[in-house]
Amino acid sequence: MIVVMDHKASKKQEKDVIAEIRRLGFKDHAIHGVEKTVIGAVGDERQKSQVKEALETLAGVEQVIPILKPFKLASREVHKKSSIIKVKPGVEFGGKKIMMMAGPCSVENEEQLMKTARAVKKAGAHILRGGAYKPRTSPYSFQGMEEEGLKLLAKASKETGLAVVTEVLNEKEVDIVAEYADILQIGARNSQNFGLLKAVGRQKRPVLLKRAMSGTIKELLMSAEYILDQGNPNVILCERGIRTYETATRFTLDLNAVPVVHRDSHLPIVVDPSHGTGFIELVAPMAKAGIAAGCDGLIIEVHPKPHEAFSDGPQSCTFPVFNKLMKELRPVAKAVGRIL
Ligand code: PEP
Ligand code: MN
Repeated sequence: MIVVMDHKASKKQEKDVIAEIRRLGFKDHAIHGVEKTVIGAVGDERQKSQVKEALETLAGVEQVIPILKPFKLASREVHKKSSIIKVKPGVEFGGKKIMMMAGPCSVENEEQLMKTARAVKKAGAHILRGGAYKPRTSPYSFQGMEEEGLKLLAKASKETGLAVVTEVLNEKEVDIVAEYADILQIGARNSQNFGLLKAVGRQKRPVLLKRAMSGTIKELLMSAEYILDQGNPNVILCERGIRTYETATRFTLDLNAVPVVHRDSHLPIVVDPSHGTGFIELVAPMAKAGIAAGCDGLIIEVHPKPHEAFSDGPQSCTFPVFNKLMKELRPVAKAVGRIL
């Protein structure tokens, strides 16, 4: 951390700052410039979140600038090489290959899920998505098939060979979801549910962590830190759109998050153009844009009959639309040095 002294700061104030730096367990290193004095406080600043505030309140201090990112395990400063998150043989995030996750918003019945699984597999997807536990704005909306839905996902996975990603809503359901799924999804609404983050951090399945709709990129990385800190290194981040003043789309897909995450973190990041836009006709252009921005995968909602879907029909691709999208994405991936 760097303490910048006010240009009018006295020698006594500088001495007091140095004494406080030492009392907090840091080493001090003062640099006297022509105009100003800056004092380096050397130590592990992430352990002591109150240190910045403590130094800022001292007389003669203009500002305190932290040097290291507050997320340690998620940061590229500490872990230089990009992480590869292995799900099963041939299915991994963070390598050259772009991972495609596709399927319905909600698992609704056997026919709907099996048909979708076969269609997305045929089109070239690697992972089947589908919610068995649904976070709905209204308590009167369809809440998901729960364990029955998990069983259907496992059945579809067995038949098609696709891996499965599905959301876990509560700490008490972590074990049962982990029994059936290959990847546990933490949804936007639970992105800062710290108890749930710790719980998925204590188990071994990879975690797809979605950004909160009002969360900053830093908050997303801090949430990842909770999972990593519990011993699970397999975290895949997801940009799924944020709330802005724009009303033309359901959310605003913040594709800045892709290169920012790659700059600041070693964790892979995927893009969700379905929730990010809310409209089927916007999914393809934003999926292409996600790949162009460098994402490591896409998660896309697909339904046999979107107009009959229990949830998120307007943003769900039909089978022909998804098939066409896969074909269109391949040259985009190739253009940026990736494979699909
Ligand atoms: C979903 O994937 O269907 C979902 C609910 O996503 P999000 O948490 O991003 O809204
Ligand atoms: Mn959905």
